[in-house]
Amino acid sequence: MSQVRQAPVSGRRVAQRLAVDWIACDGRGLCAELLPERVGLDEWGYPVLDGQALTADLLPDARRAVAACPKLALRLQPC
Ligand code: SF4
Repeated sequence: MSQVRQAPVSGRRVAQRLAVDWIACDGRGLCAELLPERVGLDEWGYPVLDGQALTADLLPDARRAVAACPKLALRLQPC
């Protein structure tokens, strides 16, 4: 099981965070590979999000992870 790496939060926070549609997610963990700073995996391979607002420096990678999700299960939402 991988954990979300607790790197020190640096940079300006933005009012967006990641969210998962648990019905759509198939748990293969691509999002954790693309954004390990904020997404870990549980023992079944489903994403574990830290629930924190994203920082501006992570927003481009978060958008890439959202776009790459094969099930359209990962999204950005206001926080
Ligand atoms: S990439 Fe999408 S389908 Fe795959 S684990 Fe992440 S949220 Fe689920």
